[in-house]
Parts: sequence; structure tokens; C-alpha cells
Amino acid sequence: MSALVTLKGMENVIIIGTGCAGWTAAIYTGRANLNPLVLAGEQPGGQLTTTSEVENFPGFPEGVDGATLMFSMQQQAEKFGARIDYKMVSKIERRANGSFDVHCGSEVVLEAKAVIVATGASARLLGLPKEQEIYGKNGLTTCATCDGAFYRDMPVVVVGGGDSACEEATFLTRFASKVYLLHRRDELRASKIMAERVLAHEKIEPIWNAEITAYHPGEGGKMESVTVRNRETGKESPLEVKGVFIAIGHVPNSGFLNGLADLDPEGYILQIPGKTATKTEGLYAAGDVADHVYRQAITAAGQGCAAALEAERFLADQEG
Ligand code: NAP
Repeated sequence: MSALVTLKGMENVIIIGTGCAGWTAAIYTGRANLNPLVLAGEQPGGQLTTTSEVENFPGFPEGVDGATLMFSMQQQAEKFGARIDYKMVSKIERRANGSFDVHCGSEVVLEAKAVIVATGASARLLGLPKEQEIYGKNGLTTCATCDGAFYRDMPVVVVGGGDSACEEATFLTRFASKVYLLHRRDELRASKIMAERVLAHEKIEPIWNAEITAYHPGEGGKMESVTVRNRETGKESPLEVKGVFIAIGHVPNSGFLNGLADLDPEGYILQIPGKTATKTEGLYAAGDVADHVYRQAITAAGQGCAAALEAERFLADQEG
């Protein structure tokens, strides 16, 4: 096995993640002449790269393609001196002098005075064949707020039985002709008020004890229908839908923090109230890895900005 290699000198700030939070933090720390290093991991760009048109990011009245928006943010950050490296972080440790060792795989370690964690959260999917090809653009999505408006007068199905699924289903009634709510049990997990609202809605039809076992995209790759299996009888039947909205939870990408930040029971990073700081001085969290409430591109960008300003002040205090 190769020895651990410490690369270059001490970085001012390492930003982990290249979604809206990460790139906004990079723009701000870049403009503060901190020469930030951004670690992009193997799938750069965050969740927006899996969606089609973004219509709710301020400043784009005609909407903007998610990947284009992320690339614009990257260019803006690079213009101010941000450097990008496609390394995947495996672990963070804190040295006795307060700086951070950022481990990338088992062989490389980078050192930084401050770290901003903006690694986002990954939506859970069903793990069915064709999922990756159709995810985001062709009728399979995990965000009704982002993509709901594309399903005007079309039938859609929401998968899940929690508050997110109920919220997505309710939101989709503004656009879709019919919203099926497909749940693996016969009782919703969602809060009573959300469940009652959903079940009383004339456009929403629950499908109980059910699971999707196959997606059927038509010509051009767009979703045409799915196969639904009744979990009690085993009977399979087709369901014609143009959109499948998966709402079975998210997994925050916080597994590499090694105890340096406290996590809630679901793995979201706990920030100090009103800040992006974590319990460890010099370690900040921004965006979906710390936010299971709003989960929007613009709120992630706002947190990225806040984390950058907090890191900048922390570094200035250290110098002074
Ligand atoms: P959740 O409460 O964990 O619910 C996930 C749902 O997906 C459950 O109904 C679960 O089924 C189902 N599920 C999980 N894995 C599945 C699989 N592999 N196949 C099929 N179904 C699967 O997640 P959430 O709805 O995203 O909510 C997360 C947290 O955010 C919750 O605390 C929630 O209260 C909160 N939240 C609040 C609001 C609000 O108050 N406005 C809105 C959204 C979310 P089972 O029920 O059978 O386990």
C-alpha cells in the first residue's frame, strides 16, 4: 500500500461539494482572495444536474437548464481564483493546531485552516432497471417543486407515504390531471394533517400496498407507464403515467465527518442555530447536507454565502 501523501501546503479553505452551496461559497471565498480549493467528487454539480429546467432560481425569467446553471456558477468561482479538483473525500480529521486533514481515498491528504462541507443529500431511488437513464429528464424525478410544472394535464404518480410524498402529491395537483399516491403499506407515515389533506383531495388517488417494478419509457425515452405490483396479492398491472415522482427520503452525504460535526438521527449536519458553523471551530456546513426542510437551490446558495462569510471572519481572526 502506498504511503499517505500530503499535497502542497496549507490551504486557507477547502470546500467539499459543487452544488449551489459549494459554488456560492467558492465565489465568496474567491472574491475574498482566499484562493479556495473546491473538491468536486466523482459526480460534480449536485442535484441540479439531474433536473431539467430550473424555473425558480431568481434572475432567469425564461428558466435555466440545471447543468448550465451549475457550470455558470463554476465559471464565476474560477474567475475569482477558485481551483477545482475531482477528488472524493473519505475522511476529515483535526490536527492539534486546529487545522484540518482532508483525506481523499486512502492515499492523499490535503490540509486546510477551514473547511466548508457542501456535499448535499442524495434522493433515494427505487433501484430499478433504466432508472439512471430516465432520472431527471425523461419523466422520473425527485422534486415536484422543480419539475411539477412540466406535467400540466398529465397523469403522474408519487411514490412514498411520508410528509414529502404528501407534500409533493398536493403540489402536483396544481398541474397534473391525476395524481396517484403509491405507497408500500396501507397507511401513510405522514403527519395526520398532511395525510388527511391528501386523502381528501379529489385529484389524488392512493394505491395501497403497492410497488413499482418496472418503468416503461416510450420512443424518445420519455416515461409512458409503469408496472405496479400489489404486495399482498402479487398481481402486476400497468399504470399509465407521464411522470414518476419518487419521495422515499434523502440520504445526506455526511458519512466522512468522523465526529467533527454532530448529526441528527437522519444524518443531517447540525449547525449552531443561526449560523452555518458546526461544533468544531473552522468547520462549516451549507446546503442540503444540513437542511432537510427547504432543500432548494436558492436556499443552498444562501447558506453557501453565509458559510463563506463565516469562514472568512474566522480566518481573519486567526491572522489578527
Ligand atoms: P420519511 O418520513 O422517511 O418517509 C419515507 C417514505 O418512503 C415512507 O412512507 C416509507 O415507507 C417510504 N419508503 C422508504 N423507502 C422506500 C422504498 N425503498 N420503497 C418504497 N417506499 C419507501 O421521509 P420524508 O417524507 O422525506 O420526510 C423526511 C422528514 O422530513 C420527516 O421527518 C418529515 O416529517 C419531514 N418533512 C416535513 C415536511 C413538513 O412538515 N412540511 C415536509 C417534508 C418532510 P414506510 O412508511 O413503509 O416506511
